Amino acid sequence: MSTWECPFCGRLSVKDKIQQQYNYYIVKADTKQGELLVQSWVYVCPNHECKEFTYISEVGSAKIVPGKYEIAEPIQRWTHIPQGVVKQFPDYIPKAILNDYRESAMIAELSPKASATLARRCLQGMIRDFWGVKEKNLFEEVRAIEEKVDTDTWQAIDAIRSIGNIGAHMEKDIDLIIEVDKEESELLIRLIETLLSDWYVERENRRIRSERIVAAAAEKKELKQQ
Ligand SMILES: [Zn+2]
Repeated sequence: MSTWECPFCGRLSVKDKIQQQYNYYIVKADTKQGELLVQSWVYVCPNHECKEFTYISEVGSAKIVPGKYEIAEPIQRWTHIPQGVVKQFPDYIPKAILNDYRESAMIAELSPKASATLARRCLQGMIRDFWGVKEKNLFEEVRAIEEKVDTDTWQAIDAIRSIGNIGAHMEKDIDLIIEVDKEESELLIRLIETLLSDWYVERENRRIRSERIVAAAAEKKELKQQ
């Protein structure tokens, strides 16, 4: 039983149980790669709050196996939607931060160094906005929140700081473009996603929980007075 992870909300589902559509056609032409098989899939997220769909297609040289066609040699595969793996976050998070995150995630594969530059700017924006910290560079800003964030969060931030070029260049201006590899820039994006949830989403959830308790207490008080 294979599982499928929604790239929008991160929910795991059993692949056979979700709404999906598959289609294909054979290009019966004399191409360099012979006859081609073009196929595409649409998967719909079963999470009621999400319901986003993913659309993937693939082309390759075709071969006939009993009863159907299969790709012999893959040529190209695209994820049309979502473009880049971008998670959805609530819009009470400041727009500038969400824009930097989305853009960074969208170009992670195409240009790791441009992605990492945006991700560093996003991280700085989050630290400044959420923690009210403003120092002369990202390195100092990260240091300034060490005492404020919980241990798990700190370890995640520190782990990124300790690898490769991202860590080595935190003292430099965030707008400076640095050479990073794909894995590094993706780790940075995963860190930002974690911090968006742990800081902004968690704070909002806490606020709603408290609000409910306050409202319930007020209602009780009112009932007593009647
Ligand atoms: Zn989803």
